[in-house]
Amino acid sequence: MKIGIIGGGPGGLAVGMLLASKGLDVTIYEREQSVGGRCGKLTDEDEKYIFDIGPTFLMMPYILEDIFSKCNKNLHDYVNLNLLEPYYRLNYRDGSTFHPGQNYQRVKREISKLSPGDIDGFENYMKDNKKKFEKTFPVLQGDYQKFYDIFNLDILKFLGVLRPWSTLWDDLGKHFKDDRIKVGFTFQSKYLGMSPMNCPSVFSILSFVEYSSGIYHVQGGLHQLSEGMEKAFKEMGGKLELGCDVKKIIIEGKKAKGIELSDGTKQQLDEVVMNADFAWGMQNLIDDEKRKKYKDEKLRQKKYSCSTFMMYLGLNKKYEHLPHHSIYISEDYKRNFDDIESGNFSYDPSFYIQNPCVTDDNLAPKDHSALYVLVPVPNLKNEINWDKKTTEEFKKKILRLMKERAGLDGIEEHIEFEDVVTPKNWEKRFRVGYGATFNLAHNIRQLTIFRPRNRFEEFDNMWLVGGGTNPGSGLPTIYESGRITAYGIFKKYNIEMPAVITPPVTSGIQV
Ligand SMILES: Cc1cc2nc3c(=O)[nH]c(=O)nc-3n(C[C@H](O)[C@H](O)[C@H](O)COP(=O)(O)OP(=O)(O)OC[C@H]3O[C@@H](n4cnc5c(N)ncnc54)[C@H](O)[C@@H]3O)c2cc1C
Repeated sequence: MKIGIIGGGPGGLAVGMLLASKGLDVTIYEREQSVGGRCGKLTDEDEKYIFDIGPTFLMMPYILEDIFSKCNKNLHDYVNLNLLEPYYRLNYRDGSTFHPGQNYQRVKREISKLSPGDIDGFENYMKDNKKKFEKTFPVLQGDYQKFYDIFNLDILKFLGVLRPWSTLWDDLGKHFKDDRIKVGFTFQSKYLGMSPMNCPSVFSILSFVEYSSGIYHVQGGLHQLSEGMEKAFKEMGGKLELGCDVKKIIIEGKKAKGIELSDGTKQQLDEVVMNADFAWGMQNLIDDEKRKKYKDEKLRQKKYSCSTFMMYLGLNKKYEHLPHHSIYISEDYKRNFDDIESGNFSYDPSFYIQNPCVTDDNLAPKDHSALYVLVPVPNLKNEINWDKKTTEEFKKKILRLMKERAGLDGIEEHIEFEDVVTPKNWEKRFRVGYGATFNLAHNIRQLTIFRPRNRFEEFDNMWLVGGGTNPGSGLPTIYESGRITAYGIFKKYNIEMPAVITPPVTSGIQV
């Protein structure tokens, strides 16, 4: 049996490792010269400055630890994880700040400084969300192949916490009065590329996950996770073809039969796993007339996450006052999200700066730094034309905000290297459909059985893995998608499957 995986992103690597651990003949075809996809590395020519392309927060490391242990390996032999405390600094427009972290007493003191009446809310929030998380996680681990798969005990328990009528923002209003605290517990919907005003209330578990599982940096950058997975995959006999661009998935009738590479070579395969971005992969790897449920026109009607405007800046200066992670909240938080969803530039965008050199010396020379700047912006289903002029103007605006709000005086004079990625570049350079960096949106109608299925419903012998299938976008869930897809293949071939993990939700803050 020959299995081919299109793409060596976190999803492709996770499924690849599990398949290889069973001695199966598995090859990852990756078009770039290195693995990782959006969780890969970006550098200047001399590798003086090193950046993560996408993920900078690692949460729930136990999911990846579990994948390694299912392969008889130890994640910690491959990467060094560094728990950050506090996790990050939230900066509000009125000058106040908030530093979430695992030090429960300190967090309570900070809440009481911002809003003394909200202390009890914090305890209630944690208790409520612990229950919610325990009922939601098994649903995220589910393998939804047929409609009746949603009729099970886990889903039944989950319905009790789903509250489909309530948005994340409304839900937090039950616990907190102060809008700044509500922001501190809802901005995490950005991880799904959604506005808290539209995001299902069940995703209040995201900030609970931060408090309970911690936020980790990986020494050397989060792309080290992908490199560690590559190493483990190869050690188990997995084959990796770098610089190997898949042009088409060969479909005959209802079956995926193999792949065609851009040099015209064809590979017959028994199982084809697609890790390429779902919206991009559908539109480019399978002819429209062969698809029914996911024709181009139908794909366009789906809801997608926001996009991001990125600046990767190599500086001959280190800003010691700037923490590892800082988030700057817009003056009008709700309007900022409305603007993103309606396809407009915000007059005062929220933005995020990562300054990892304050905790990690591996990313830039001494007294230099590698800054990562992310601004959520509309995806390409909207009409913004990211031409040179628009990009340059937007860049200037963000640099001005960075000086004003983060105290990065004179930053322009210190830039030695710069790479800017717009939604258009996400699509053209990184092949992300509609530039929607966090994939298909995570509204109820695009989750579980309603999301493209891991055992892909359109064709036999074809599977999906990554943020476009179940459970959804974000590293922990993408690794879990690798586990779900691998287990689907094991089941098909009667291969024994190790037990699925129950997360240690009591770690971190005790509630
Ligand atoms: C800016 C940004 C910030 C993020 N921050 C976080 C964070 O802090 N924490 C978190 O948990 N998650 C974060 N995410 C979300 C998510 O974890 C990453 O996007 C993740 O890398 C997605 O993994 P994936 O496997 O689905 O796809 P990808 O990483 O996109 O991997 C797909 C792979 O397929 C390859 N490929 C595509 N087409 C072909 C082809 N035709 N032939 C061969 N190879 C092909 C690509 O080159 C790529 O390597 C972030 C994402 C972005 C973009």
